[in-house]
Amino acid sequence: MKDKRLQKLGELHRKHKDIITLMPLQTGGLLTEAAKKALIEFGDGYSVCDFCEGNLSNIANPPVREFVHELLPEFLGCDVAAVTHGAREAKFMIMHSLAGHGDSIIVDGNRHYTTIVAAERAGLNVVEVPSSGYPEFTIDVNQYEPLVEKHHPRMILLTYPDGNYGNIPDAKRLGEIAQDHDVPFILNGAYAVGRMPVNMNELGADFIIGSSHKSMASAGPCGVLGMKKRWEEVVLRKSEAYSNKELELLGCTVRGVPLVTLMASFPYVVERVHDWDGQVLKAQWFSSEIEKLGFKQLGEKPHRHDLLYFETAMLYEISKHVRERGYFLYKELKDRGIWGPQPGLTRAFKLSTFAASREQLSFVLDSFKSILSKYS
Ligand SMILES: *Cc1c(COP(=O)(O)O)cnc(C)c1O
Repeated sequence: MKDKRLQKLGELHRKHKDIITLMPLQTGGLLTEAAKKALIEFGDGYSVCDFCEGNLSNIANPPVREFVHELLPEFLGCDVAAVTHGAREAKFMIMHSLAGHGDSIIVDGNRHYTTIVAAERAGLNVVEVPSSGYPEFTIDVNQYEPLVEKHHPRMILLTYPDGNYGNIPDAKRLGEIAQDHDVPFILNGAYAVGRMPVNMNELGADFIIGSSHKSMASAGPCGVLGMKKRWEEVVLRKSEAYSNKELELLGCTVRGVPLVTLMASFPYVVERVHDWDGQVLKAQWFSSEIEKLGFKQLGEKPHRHDLLYFETAMLYEISKHVRERGYFLYKELKDRGIWGPQPGLTRAFKLSTFAASREQLSFVLDSFKSILSKYS
């Protein structure tokens, strides 16, 4: 091929086989064998549409209907579910349906950037409940109440857990506040749904959001949205011109690979959330072991999620004196078969213990130890 740029596209590769993955974005999205098979089988464009009769969520073969209308609501603890392009699209759909230009919403100070961007796109004012700040950054949900009384928001949103520190705020308490004030409550569970047990109705939320490529072993981009029955005709309202097409979904959302990998991994995901206590113990153990090396875990302690944030001043000191600068850590870890902190970061970074076994994490700890001693 003459054009080198085109040639490169024909030879894409990514050397991640047999690597220990600690990157928080990726540990919950690793595919199951069933999903890998489905990915090949349904890789062709519009493959799920063979038997579509006009509405994606009603396709019987593959069993999208059963998945969206039965299995997902049971799993999320909600009345009605939908599949979206991701957590952010789910947030935007709700905001766009429930509020209009100039309306206010209240969110936690640990919110994901996509909450802000979705609100901006919908023209909303965002009021934030501040966190407690360094070092734990916890959210006291009781602080929503005076702000709800002051701003009369169209909805409130809680990030559960947040994507920086992995803190798990008291969603159930906020559910009570939301019901007392009759304000719709969105639970953003991008890091929860598919990792840990979480049930929308038990927490008193109106909406629950998950990210399939982050936490449901799916190729994505794909998300899930659960809601109370009363919101179905608001958020999933149909087009006036096409009466079987949901307006906010622009007719159909994910089709093909994102959806079938989510469905193929789902039996495994439903089971794995029951191992959550073990996941939490593993994360706590890893955190306490790595702190013995001089790193400092921020966020809640003891921690209750696999997403961990560490301050690593010693690694930053090393980075000032080596040729590769901040990339030395990435290279040292890569040489040991570990894929973890975002390449270039040394001062502070996030890790997730979700996909690694205790044996692998012991190897990671030993690796950090030997990197520190190599440069000391
Ligand atoms: C990753 C993340 C998102 C974005 O998820 P997408 O499915 O990629 O849109 C939203 N909120 C939180 C808290 C996240 O961690």
